[in-house]
Amino acid sequence: MAGITWHYVLKFIITGDAAVGKSSLLIRLTDQRFLLNPDPTLGVEFGSKLITIPEENKIIKLQCWDTAGTESFRSITRSYYRGAAGCLLVYDVTSRKSFTNARSWLADVREHADPHLTCILVGNKVDLCDADAGAKRREVSTEEAELWAQEEGLLFVEASAKSGQGVEDAFVKAASDILSKI
Ligand code: GDP
Repeated sequence: MAGITWHYVLKFIITGDAAVGKSSLLIRLTDQRFLLNPDPTLGVEFGSKLITIPEENKIIKLQCWDTAGTESFRSITRSYYRGAAGCLLVYDVTSRKSFTNARSWLADVREHADPHLTCILVGNKVDLCDADAGAKRREVSTEEAELWAQEEGLLFVEASAKSGQGVEDAFVKAASDILSKI
């Protein structure tokens, strides 16, 4: 029987503050699962997944590296920027601080990654903004994030690793953009 084949292999990195949901997004993408209390990210985790880009009719093998969210691991994770074609720059829509810090993560990516890297800004945890989610409050509006993404030339999506909303879409959008540049 013929094995599964793909047209391209793309390396992605996932970056952003600790606890914004980077590991959870990766687990959601590769396993269709959500863990309430995942192990705190230590160093870098890896996940692989086949996705289809409909417009191009192409199958992409994504190789995703989840970089640690803490400053102390930055020196380790920098080497993982090498060779990356795509980057998910993640913040938590209920944490303004994580959105503010996305600026320095972007600066870090721009300093160390390929200048042609496609970056998508991902506002995670939108499920906490649902009317029935209760206490948690949105601290970053969709409009504000969209505007900043436009200014910086980033793609943008809001997502929830918990519900799955927008997760595959984030990777597909970024991968489509990369393919359109090849
Ligand atoms: P990381 O440090 O950026 O890798 O973040 P984690 O993936 O470890 O997630 C941090 C915490 O946020 C965990 O308790 C997750 O269960 C929770 N979390 C992650 N994504 C979501 C989401 O989309 N919605 C909600 N409600 N919680 C999330």
